[in-house]
Amino acid sequence: MTASETIFSKIIRKEIPAEIVYEDDLTLAFKDINPQAPVHILVIPKKPIPTLADAESHDHALMGHLLLTVKRVAERAGLNNGYRVVINSGEDGGQTVNHLHLHIFGGRQMNWPPG
Ligand code: 5GP
Repeated sequence: MTASETIFSKIIRKEIPAEIVYEDDLTLAFKDINPQAPVHILVIPKKPIPTLADAESHDHALMGHLLLTVKRVAERAGLNNGYRVVINSGEDGGQTVNHLHLHIFGGRQMNWPPG
């Protein structure tokens, strides 16, 4: 899939508002507009990689940085008792916004398996 403009591109450029909780040169984290848990935060790369399946070997440092950003954001959100990280990839994965994002869910006991 080729990189295309999404709502998340506009959030990165601050053209539409979002509750941003963390930002650095490579990543942005903001609260999900339709939270599915008491804490529901999205962590995204600023680089517009559409899906996880589009990540390439030269993105490996960015991929590691995204996971470490998740850890940092979860700590800042006070999720000391644990949390869940989800990446929906592609149509069967239930992805609705074609800009790679990691969901952080926390603040309640998560169920398993997911639907
Ligand atoms: P997906 O289903 O692609 O894994 O998740 C996309 C997520 O983005 C959904 O949880 C949805 O609520 C969230 N979302 C979609 N549009 C916006 C928006 O404009 N602002 C914010 N903060 N979240 C959004």
